[in-house]
Parts: sequence; C-alpha cells; structure tokens
Amino acid sequence: MNKKEIAALLDEPACAHNSKAKSGCAKPKPGATAGGCAFDGAQIALLPIADVAHIVHGSIACAGSSWDSRGTRSSGPTLYKMGMTTDLTEQDVIMGRGEKRLFHAIKQAIDTYHPAAVFVYNTCIPAMIGDDIEAVCRQAQTRWGTPVVPVDAAGFYGTKNLGNRIAGETMVKHVCGTREPDPLPPGIEGPGFKVHAITLVGEYNIAGELWHVSPLFDELGLRVLGSLSGDARYREVQTMHRSEVNMMVCSKAMINVARMLKERFGTPWFEGSFYGVADVSQALRDFARIIEDPDLTARTETLIAREEAAIHARLEPWRARLAGRKVLLYTGGVKSWSIISALQDLGMTVVATGTRKSTEDDKARIRELMGEDAVMIEDGNPRALLKIVHDQGVDILIAGGRNMYTALKARVPFLDINQEREFGYAGYSGMLELAKQLCLTVESPVWEAVRRPAPWSVGSGTAAAVDPLGAGPRSGPYESDTGAHDAESAHA
Ligand code: SF4
Repeated sequence: MNKKEIAALLDEPACAHNSKAKSGCAKPKPGATAGGCAFDGAQIALLPIADVAHIVHGSIACAGSSWDSRGTRSSGPTLYKMGMTTDLTEQDVIMGRGEKRLFHAIKQAIDTYHPAAVFVYNTCIPAMIGDDIEAVCRQAQTRWGTPVVPVDAAGFYGTKNLGNRIAGETMVKHVCGTREPDPLPPGIEGPGFKVHAITLVGEYNIAGELWHVSPLFDELGLRVLGSLSGDARYREVQTMHRSEVNMMVCSKAMINVARMLKERFGTPWFEGSFYGVADVSQALRDFARIIEDPDLTARTETLIAREEAAIHARLEPWRARLAGRKVLLYTGGVKSWSIISALQDLGMTVVATGTRKSTEDDKARIRELMGEDAVMIEDGNPRALLKIVHDQGVDILIAGGRNMYTALKARVPFLDINQEREFGYAGYSGMLELAKQLCLTVESPVWEAVRRPAPWSVGSGTAAAVDPLGAGPRSGPYESDTGAHDAESAHA
C-alpha cells in the first residue's frame, strides 16, 4: 500500500465522521495506547472465514499478539484457529530470505491442510524490507492452483480501524464476484414464497450469536449468501456480489465494503443492529422494505408479532429483577444506542455511555433514547469511569474486556460486552441471555463479600474508612489500578 491508498481509505466517503469539520476517523493521541495496529485489525476482521489458512508473514510476535483473540465461532471447519506464521528472524532479514520463506509457508499450508484459500498478512518487518507479497501470492496461486490473497496491512500503516478497512477492501477487490452462488435446491420456492439473497457486513458471530438470528432468516426466505466475516466460508464471500441487500452490522469497521459493493454491483445497503428487541425487528423490516416483496413484508410482520410477544413474556421475570438498576455503558461508542435500547427494554437506567467511536448520527440516537442531558464519555480512562460509578451509584459496568480489572479491583459488578465475551446477545433469544447474564452478575453474592472489611482489619481502627462502594479499608476503588490502560473497547 502506498501513502495515497492509505489516505483514500481514511477518507471514507460513507463514514459520517467525514462530514464533520476537522474530524478524521482515527486520531491516536501521543502517549496513549491506541489499540491494535492495522495488521491486527485486518486479521481479526478476516479470521472468522473458517476454511482459509491465515498466514502471518512476519516475526513470531505479530502472530502471537493477536491470534485467536476473539470469541468468533464456526459451524464447520476450524482451520482459522490454526496460527500460521513465517516466523521471520534477523537472519532471514539480513539474508533477504523473507519472500522465499513465505513461498514455502504457503506450500506447506496447502499441502498440509488443503484450505479453500490462503490469506497472507503483511506486517511491519517485511513491509519495511520491501518483500513483494503480492508477487509471491500470485506466483504461489499459479503454481498450486489455490487462491492466495495478499492482505497488505502492515502495522505501521495505521490503526486497527484502518486494518479493518484494508481487509474489507481486499475482499471486494480480490474475492467478491469471483464465483456465482449455488442454485437453490428444488422445491424451496413456491407460490407466495420467493427466496431473496442477502449479506451481512461487519458481523463476526461472536459467541455464536449469529445463530440466534439465522433461523429467522431461514423462516423468512432470506438466504445469507455470505458474511464478512462471521462463520463465513471462502466460497460464500466469493458470491456476495449477488446479494439483493447488504446489512452493515457494525457501522464503522467495514463501511467501505458496503459502499464499494453498491458502487460496483449496485447493491443497496442499510445500517442496523441485532441487539435489543426493537432493533432486531427494525433490521428485519429494513430487509423487507428494501427488497419490496409484499409476501416477504407480510411474513416479516407476522414473524415479528409472534417473536416480540414470546420474548416479552419470557423477559418479564428478568425485568422484575433488573428494573431500576443503574448501568454505566462503555462500548467505545460502537452501536451504543443499540445496547442502550436493549438495556432500557429490560427496565434498566443507563446513566452514561461511551461515545468515543460514535458518529454524529449515533450521538443523536443516544440523545433520543437517554434524553438531551445524556452523559457521553469521550475519554473513558479508568479513573473517569470509576468516578461516574461512584457519583451515580452505578450497579454494573458494561464494557470491553480491558476494563474488567478496573471494575473488579474496584469491586464493581462487570459484564463484558465486547468481542472476547462468552455469550451471544444478538437476536430475540440473545436478549434473554443478556438479561440472564446481567442478573447473574449484579446479584452475585461475591460483591457483598468482597466489599466487607477484611477480617484482619476489623477492630484495628482502620475499618471505618470504608469507601463509598462499601469496599473496605483499602485504598478505595478510585485509587486502585487507575494506570494508563486505555479504556476504549476494541472492535472490528
Ligand atoms: S505493529 Fe507491526 S510489528 Fe507490531 S504487531 Fe503490528 S504488524 Fe507486528
């Protein structure tokens, strides 16, 4: 990638940040942890393509620091879980053996695992010494007849978000449109039931949550041709150009894919979310609205009425336990509005939310849900988050995994909402899981136990210095581990 190409990717016309004066998409501050590098962003965006051999071309540390770092799941092949790297050493760099090692690594991956394709991720060292990974990939593809795709997203090109975009652009340029979809099995379609092709962009099947939604698609006759990239297969991504409508599930990560698919193949797209009852229904309605099939619209409304009635009845007992609980939400801003709406559905009060990655549209939606005085956190350092927890009497912090220790050391109930989480919250049934996990977290007896003064300090005269959360005589939550961790939640 040259400077011009990187600048073009950062200047994404479909991104709402660009319409705001003096506002770019990515501005790491000096001295602050800026999250993952471009390579990390590219790799986590494409790793969920399960039948591909993902080779990291670089030193061992690049693969080691990011491999398998997210809870994405596959319903079939598990090749994506296999960490592969060319493991470049100083000797390889000095002797100029990088390209050769890559060529052999591709051969080994193909011979050993017979993957549907090989993706080669560039990293800082080979990018700096000038390895021509495109040429190596081209040659390997010609030699062994397996698609070999170069993903040129070396870490120093920029941030994780840029890496997401490079990954998306690579898929549109090299993969989408290279195969036609398989024909439908006979007897699927009939009078009043036509199957429509759709794709999901920016959906990663974290903790298998896509499977909460796929039965609804099946029932409606919406065929998911492919997704980028949750539970995807290479041959599915190849057919994404035949979709009738694309849903942009995570607004910033791969917005360029939705735009490019529209430009190249004329496919309309919309932005939506599968979190919260109202948003799931809205997403299904948006598919029907854009496809303009009256039978589909009627089926969609029937399904929504049935599912909403069922989920509201099942949520009732959980609502009674969660009503009035105060939440501090820090997702880094991505789809905050969607989670807010899900929490409000459960009767909880969101006292503040992170908006660091939110677009102006996102913020407007947040105000709509939380009122004009909504507290929006731009800089979610641990100290600031804990101050809000204390000032507002927050019952639970919902944030990304890297805030977990901040919360636990301060003895504040914590729920992981980001990519490393173990539970899927998408779809109607995901709401039930969310309610259950919130209850388990908030009602856990451990909080009362850890907030009690330590037995050895009782009676020593220091136990009176109990902190405002009842945390005992230690230094208090606001003094604990408020170091330089960046509290911003990672996403891709
Ligand atoms: S910044 Fe460069 S060296 Fe570090 S992990 Fe990313 S690609 Fe590898």
